[in-house]
Amino acid sequence: MSLIDFFYPKRCPVCLDALPPGKQLICAPCVRKVRRVAGPVCYLCGRPLSDENEEYCRSCRRRRPSFVKCMAYAEYSSPAMRRMIAEVKYHGDCQLLDYPCLDFAKRKADEVRGYGIEALIPVPVHKERLLIRGYNQAEEIADRLSAVWKIPVDAGYLCRVKRTAAQKELTDTERMTNLFDAFRLSGEPGRYGAVILVDDIYTTGSTLESCTRVLMRAGVKRVFGAVLLTGRN
Ligand SMILES: [Zn+2]
Ligand SMILES: [Zn+2]
Repeated sequence: MSLIDFFYPKRCPVCLDALPPGKQLICAPCVRKVRRVAGPVCYLCGRPLSDENEEYCRSCRRRRPSFVKCMAYAEYSSPAMRRMIAEVKYHGDCQLLDYPCLDFAKRKADEVRGYGIEALIPVPVHKERLLIRGYNQAEEIADRLSAVWKIPVDAGYLCRVKRTAAQKELTDTERMTNLFDAFRLSGEPGRYGAVILVDDIYTTGSTLESCTRVLMRAGVKRVFGAVLLTGRN
């Protein structure tokens, strides 16, 4: 056992118990408890569909997103995954992302290979928040996906210029207004033709939509999304 394993044992992302030292990233019985997105999903935003006869969810039918499509790993309704994201966000335990990101990356590897992606772009956080927290959870996820997909991460291509009010209490229209102008290009325009935006959670899709618009104005032809958790529509 290394000293690092002794003082900071890796924890299981589902039950949060310490794992035995070694390569294991989740306890065996917990693998079954991850509520992965399965079954019919919206062809655009990747959320599980409540009506499986539809191709798109209600919100994508109402307002078609600018991104090509979004891939999602697990359901936000899974209490374990929600707790895991909170541990990452508020207690800085980024190692909990190892298993879900690796599992997600492997499951989507073939699909992603077909898209000709040049870079993974994490949804940026405001630099003040980055100073306080020390890391951006979207970038932590992107780094882990990058290791499997062998696609470089460009964390400096977009920046967040506005600290946005908490999105939860807002209506859809208010969210878009809230996010309008929140993101800017900070890299050189025309650098990429196809990218994947990476974020932790997809709720209404307005964050991904705002970033996609900035990227498309910068000449990106095809923007995809990859998120760890997503809601049901
Ligand atoms: Zn466990
Ligand atoms: Zn949708």
